[in-house]
Amino acid sequence: MANQVSGKYGKYVETDLPKFAEVSGHHKPAPFWIMPDMFPGVSLHVAGVDASKIVEAPHANPHQHETPEIYLAPSERKGDIVVEIQMDDEKFVVDSPFAVFIPPGVRHCFKVIKCETTHYVFGIVLPEWRG
Ligand code: ZN
Repeated sequence: MANQVSGKYGKYVETDLPKFAEVSGHHKPAPFWIMPDMFPGVSLHVAGVDASKIVEAPHANPHQHETPEIYLAPSERKGDIVVEIQMDDEKFVVDSPFAVFIPPGVRHCFKVIKCETTHYVFGIVLPEWRG
């Protein structure tokens, strides 16, 4: 692993990113910015894609898992990213910036409708959620 920082805290700095991993329902390995076991005791997963590269091209089929997920789309301006989110049988359109909570067991996916410049949409999976 290529750590750029030496010393006591070098192990807490990860620069070899993203890590690619298979995710059920996804069409190809997803880019992860935080992976389980990257840091001691942290089981959070953070995947994220450049939304401008997947306009009208869904990266995953509707899928579900027993841990909740948050879709997070930061942006400085309203509507830099526009996505259609599906949760079970409901579809709705949301303009960035947004954070959407997907409860455990709810089938979900999203499709980017508009995004003209590089902006990331993150999927943050919370394995330790206790509801
Ligand atoms: Zn998911």
